[in-house]
Amino acid sequence: MATPKRHLITSALPYANGALHLGHLAGAYLPADIYARYLRLLGRDVAFVCGSDEHGAAITIRAKKEGRSPKDIIDTYHELNKSSFQRLGISFDIYHRTSAPLHHETAQEFFRVLHERGDQFEERRSEQYYDEEYDQFLADRYIVGTCPRCSYEEAYGDQCENCGSDLSPTELIDPRSTLSGHQPVLRPTTHWFFKLDEHATWLREWIVSGTVDGQPHHHPKEWKKHVVGQCLSWLDGEDGLQARSITRDLDWGIPVPLERAEGKVLYVWFDAPIGYISATKQWLIDQGRDPESWRDYWQSEDADLVHFIG
Ligand SMILES: [Zn+2]
Repeated sequence: MATPKRHLITSALPYANGALHLGHLAGAYLPADIYARYLRLLGRDVAFVCGSDEHGAAITIRAKKEGRSPKDIIDTYHELNKSSFQRLGISFDIYHRTSAPLHHETAQEFFRVLHERGDQFEERRSEQYYDEEYDQFLADRYIVGTCPRCSYEEAYGDQCENCGSDLSPTELIDPRSTLSGHQPVLRPTTHWFFKLDEHATWLREWIVSGTVDGQPHHHPKEWKKHVVGQCLSWLDGEDGLQARSITRDLDWGIPVPLERAEGKVLYVWFDAPIGYISATKQWLIDQGRDPESWRDYWQSEDADLVHFIG
């Protein structure tokens, strides 16, 4: 593309459940900071955004381990990490947090818009693991067991950290609750699934040729070969893309904005990526600008968007 008018740079949102270490800095923060400073020296319009990822079972499990409330955990680690970044001179334009009301509203709006389209979600009733001693459904990391692919005995309900496989809790062999340590039982519950599979065709076109419906959209040559290969392996793998549940039975997170979804929250992997957008909105508000102009940084042909993941 010609010289972009605006640059949006993101660094991976760290979980507010522990302190940062040097590996984090070398991965997603220092390279992004160098890039942001370089563009600012060229006089470019730059928004460099980041913030704390404060939902999901990673937070509530940490809270339980320390005998504290989830709110107490995120407040502690958000402040700690924010000040570490400041002292290290990482030049974020904003360091936001996903517990902020603006982020809750923004993530709920994304859910609502998709829901109102009528064809993006599928409501599914399914059997999920439940800890009878603790009287709660067990989301993702509340279940550990043996990985069916590599036999690692401490695999989580959503992922095996040994072989990197995405898992569903019912695939685990000898599942046990991380709360009581006992074998959980299956109980029916309802969740909303985002029909990722129905987006496979345009995603494939976009990844391979950088076009959407034949129209140029981004420059595919800027993508490294192994990145394209990784994306295609998800699209063309054994089962292809699958519908994924984007809600959870948890008491910590962003409430699902539907009356019949009481007690359910948005899955953290649905809400957290939207955190970059709510951070952009807050950055605009802090400057007295229209928060809706986040679109100029995210959706405009004149904007260049670079994510540093680590
Ligand atoms: Zn495994």
